[in-house]
Parts: sequence; structure tokens; C-alpha cells
Amino acid sequence: MSIRWGAVKTSQRSPMPRRKRQMNNLSPSKSLYEPRRAVHNKRIDGPFRRFKWLVMAVTLGIYYGTPWIRWDRGPYAPDQAVLVDLAHRRFYMFGIEIWPQEFYFVAGLLIMAGIGLFLVTSAVGRAWCGYSCPQTVWTDLFQHVDRFVDGDRNARMKLDAAPWTWGKVTRRVFKWAIYLVIGFWTGGAWIMYFADAPTLVHDFWRGEAAPVAYVTVAILTLTTVTLGGFMREQVCIYMCPWPRIQSAMMDEKSLTVTYKDWRGEPRGSLKKSKKEPDKFGDCIDCNLCVAVCPTGIDIREGPQIGCITCALCIDACDRTMAEVGRPRGLIDYVTLEDARREIAGEPPRPVWKALLRPRTLVYFGIWSAIGLAMLFALGTRNRIDISAAPDRNPPFMLLSDGSVRNSFTVKIRNMSTAPRRMKIELEGLPGAAMWSSTTSRDRAAREIESTIPADATEPLRLYIAAPPGTGGQSFAFNLTTLDAQTETDTAKVTFSGPGASE
Ligand code: SF4
Ligand code: SF4
Repeated sequence: MSIRWGAVKTSQRSPMPRRKRQMNNLSPSKSLYEPRRAVHNKRIDGPFRRFKWLVMAVTLGIYYGTPWIRWDRGPYAPDQAVLVDLAHRRFYMFGIEIWPQEFYFVAGLLIMAGIGLFLVTSAVGRAWCGYSCPQTVWTDLFQHVDRFVDGDRNARMKLDAAPWTWGKVTRRVFKWAIYLVIGFWTGGAWIMYFADAPTLVHDFWRGEAAPVAYVTVAILTLTTVTLGGFMREQVCIYMCPWPRIQSAMMDEKSLTVTYKDWRGEPRGSLKKSKKEPDKFGDCIDCNLCVAVCPTGIDIREGPQIGCITCALCIDACDRTMAEVGRPRGLIDYVTLEDARREIAGEPPRPVWKALLRPRTLVYFGIWSAIGLAMLFALGTRNRIDISAAPDRNPPFMLLSDGSVRNSFTVKIRNMSTAPRRMKIELEGLPGAAMWSSTTSRDRAAREIESTIPADATEPLRLYIAAPPGTGGQSFAFNLTTLDAQTETDTAKVTFSGPGASE
């Protein structure tokens, strides 16, 4: 699958006269960079456009709405369903709570997202770019704002070319104000993932939120308006590395939006092709596929980096074909392999054969295996943890009765959303007993109990006294919860003493 790199043909936005274009090409001072000409894509309806509406509604709905979803975790944890709690170093996602030492779950999710993109790209090419990439979704939204304020393609082109009048200034100010509102809501929604949304909104409007909240909203407002409102397709064509990486993931069996030149060429107007049907192909050169393209390219010039495979040109061409009574699919999702088959006159293969093939199944297998492994790890993970560090200086002390004392800093972690009673026991170290800094040696025992608050790490100072002459040896602190949902954890440590090591 070869994709054409470099400057993008801008057939849709070509008001420049041919003579001037020729002069530009001949000019010795021709710039390496073609100045952007606005893309005024035309409204179109069809199955792919409706699918894009659906994806836009779902993705924007998730983005703007998720911080407002509540999730009851009891009195000791926040009730926001999705929350990155930087202050307490926690990540909450519905019933899942991730601590910093469990970051491998987030890494696993990122790996799954990466493999998911491999899977989608190898099956349906740049579908991510065409439907669900944030740049695409927001650009689409801004293009609908343009249409709402200035009208469809012709009206917008006319307004663009018109001199600056009060009417034009008013429209521009109104449109850019809507851009700013969208950018502001986008930045505002982002910060709500990092704090309790209702509280933050209240504090934000009263000027009591942290300065970083205002700075973040300002930056995201600016970037949303700049990237989605003004730069648009230039981000996809010149800035984003993903199209370059994607072309390496696609092969001859990947579906991609294709103009069937073997069926459409030579193109000619409907009038001409009716007069001489044998001389012309099915393309009546109506230019509708170019007019609806959100990146302003002409798909009839072959696969190119500017094509995000949104398939709006398929909707457009299918409409034209229906109007002139020719079969649909002059522009369609086709694999390179099937294109060759069609050219050779063989019947096309069913779409599922392009989707279900060894490569996509391998990606799906890896993706599912990681997902299942993560689900298993999540379902079986411990919500308690114990670690212990001995004092190094001095490593041991001899008490007046000759027994050997070691001191330890033991950290007990309760990762659940309620306080838990726990028991710490000594394993090994015969004849030894322990006590904490809040009690005395009189109450030394082989086990002690403690209540650890919800969602907290509690440090304990523990002292262990072993019989006289005890030498260096390994032993363990065993931690067990004293509730119905019994969980255990162990910290292995070394006891230091003057006797021979065991
Ligand atoms: S050429 Fe067609 S599929 Fe590609 S970006 Fe334009 S409208 Fe979308
Ligand atoms: S919409 Fe179809 S018929 Fe019209 S110019 Fe494009 S390919 Fe040709």
C-alpha cells in the first residue's frame, strides 16, 4: 500500500487561476511550503456521515460527561467515578482504585490501546483518524459551527472572498466566540478529571481554585481553538506522526477508501457520457467527493497522506451514482488485493475476509490475552501490603537480661475503602517476642493487632527481643486481616545478633 507523501493536492480549495499556478511553479523563489487555503467542505448525508455523528456524540459525551458520574465508595473515598487524585496519588475508575505501585495496570491499558490501534489499522486502515481521533472529532465539531454560522460550502467560500464589512466582522466574532466557548468547555472538562467536579466548578467560578486549574484551562482553550478551529487538516497532514506509522501497519489486505479508477476513468460529464457511453467511465466528474472532503483532497488521485478515511466521499459518490442510476461503490472501502481481483474481473470477496484474517486474529489474541490477564490480576490482587526495614545503626542491642533486640520500621498498607483490623505475626525466630513503640516489653508477644485506617499506609515501630545468643537469621512478619474477607501478606527480613548466623 503506497501513500503519497509531501504536498497535498488541494483540488477542493483551488480558486487559484491556472495561469497563476503555472507562474508559481516556474518562480525561482517558490516557497517550500504551500500557504494554507481554507477547506469549506459541503454538508453530506449518508451511512458513514451518520456513523460519524454517532461516534462524535459518544466520544464527546464521554469526555464532557464522565467527571459528573458519581460512584459510591463509602465514606473514606471520593465519590467521583473517574478521578486522578494527584494529591493522594490514586487513580479511581469506577470500582477500580489504582495505587502508585500498581501503575502497571495503567501501563497495561496503554499497551492494550496501542495493540488495539494496530488491530484497527491492519483491518480498516486509518479508521481511528477518520472517526475517533480527538483532532478529527473536534475539527468536525468546528466545521459544523462554521456551517451553522456561515452556511454551507458556497456561502462560506463567498463570505471568505468578500471584503470586510460590519456583517462579516459580526459573523466572524460570533463564530470565534463559539470556538472559544467550545475550547473553554474542553479545557474545563479536562481539569475535572483531577478534582471533585462539582466542588471544582464552584471554586473555579468564585476564583478560589488552584492557579494551576486556571492556567490549564487557558492552555487547553488556546490549543483546542488553534488545532481544531484554525489548523484543522494541517495537524493531520503535517504535524501528526500517526499517519506515517500507520502506513507501516497496513498491508494489501487492509481496507481503505479507494476510488475505483478502473471503473470511473476516463471521467466525463453526464452529458458527454450519455452521448458516448463507451468512451467514458462511471465518474461524471461532479466533484462532490472533493467538495465534501474535510481535508480538501481529491481521492481520485489515489491513496494519500491527507486522506483520513472518513468515508464521506463514499456517501457523496453513492448519492451521485444513485442520482444517475449507476451502481454504488465507485468510491468504496476496498483492499489492494481485492482491487486487483476486481480489475481482473473476479468477484469481490466478502468484507469479513478482510477483517478476519491471521494478522488481525493474532492482534486480537494478544489484545484479549493482556485484557484477561489484567482482569485476573485485578480480581485477585491483595488490598493489603506489609514491608519492613531493620534499623542499621546499631543492627542489634544486648539487653540487661542478655536477650538480643532488633528494631524495625514496618509499613502496613490498607488499600481498601474501609478501616481494617489486622494481625501481625512472627514466623520463625524461635523464642522471640515483639512489642510496638506504643506499648512496653511487658506486653511483648508473638503477634500484635492494629487497626489500619481506610486507604492509608501506617508506619509502626516494632521491637523484637530474641533469647540470649541468638545469631543472624531470616524470619518473616505475616500480616492477616481479621475480617470476613481474609487477606494475607508477608515481609521477609533478617534478624541480626551476636551469635553464629543460621
Ligand atoms: S478523501 Fe474521502 S475518505 Fe479521504 S478524507 Fe476525504 S472524504 Fe474522507
Ligand atoms: S463523486 Fe463520484 S462521480 Fe462525482 S466526481 Fe467524485 S468519483 Fe466522480
